[in-house]
Amino acid sequence: PREIPMSSIAVLPPTLVNQIAAGEVVERPASVVKELVENALDAGGRRIVVQIEEGGSRLISVRDDGRGMDDTDLPLALTAHATSKIRSLDDLEAVQSMGFRGEALASIASIARVTLTSCTANAPHGWTLSNEVDVTACKPAAHPQGTTVLVRDLFYQTPARRKFLRTERTEFGQIDQLMRRFALAHPTVGFTLEHNGRRLFDLPPIGPDQLSEQFPARIAQMLGEDFLTRARFIDSTASGLGLTGWVADPSYARSSTDQQLFFVNGRIVRDRLIGFAIRRAYADVLHHARQPAYVLSLNLDPRHVDVNVHPTKAEVRFRDGRAVQDFLFREIHRALAVGADPGVGDAAA
Ligand code: ADP
Ligand code: MG
Repeated sequence: PREIPMSSIAVLPPTLVNQIAAGEVVERPASVVKELVENALDAGGRRIVVQIEEGGSRLISVRDDGRGMDDTDLPLALTAHATSKIRSLDDLEAVQSMGFRGEALASIASIARVTLTSCTANAPHGWTLSNEVDVTACKPAAHPQGTTVLVRDLFYQTPARRKFLRTERTEFGQIDQLMRRFALAHPTVGFTLEHNGRRLFDLPPIGPDQLSEQFPARIAQMLGEDFLTRARFIDSTASGLGLTGWVADPSYARSSTDQQLFFVNGRIVRDRLIGFAIRRAYADVLHHARQPAYVLSLNLDPRHVDVNVHPTKAEVRFRDGRAVQDFLFREIHRALAVGADPGVGDAAA
């Protein structure tokens, strides 16, 4: 066996560090879309337009009308561990933004051709920057307030990763599912999705005071009319926990988990214990081989949930997981009981 000499420790060059980090964050084109849309949301975007070519391996474009970046911030956006979202460990403990690691754009730029174009409010013009030219030099550019990020030729430098990409159809399917989740987690934001020039959906933003009238239509468009007509509405709070959303009637149950959407403080989360608590609430009314369908948003003090568990932030850890599970179980169980007995109430209530 080859012996590695003691003196062989070396600090890795930044590009390689970023490429290693990209391995964790960017599994496929949908992972890039997730990071860019989260950035657009963090920037306060009200309309987010996502354009995809060839399943995302050729082009991913995300445009927002958020606060934008100026020519000092733009080069920093592509620098690893550079973020505008936290400054201290205290900030991290209470983080409300989707991002905080300052890693996504640097990682993506290490494995794809990236162009950022951005403009802040009241600036005379915007700025553009590309890692194909010079990541430190911004050039003036025309852009309305907000940001456009173009990601071209994903994985062109890491052919091993590129080989793991599935068909264009499969990769786009992942992006489509993700975008539907975002659209349901953030109803006040408008979302547009296009693939190869074809428009999949174009959802206008919903005013906060119009949610009760207009959100159901968005749900129906994203999940189907059938889901909505057979779903029960939940809106309750108890000891610092808030739950709003819809749980589908057991008769609507599906064979797959594709309509299990759960958000924690606006984050798309997959949590085994949450899934388990919800299943338990359905236990006496659902055949064990069937899957419940739901769109639920849980809101709580960000200090009571740790989002820094996993690089993609798909997992979270609750300070009091037991209380969260009990709350979910109780509220969903109650919602499902309403109308189960024809004498008790109206299923649509
Ligand atoms: P993070 O989101 O964890 O801070 P990113 O690498 O995703 O890290 O982004 C780095 C920084 O670039 C962000 O903190 C933000 O200041 C800026 N940025 C990225 N995308 C946008 C955007 N769409 N609009 C405004 N600023 C952005
Ligand atoms: Mg980010």
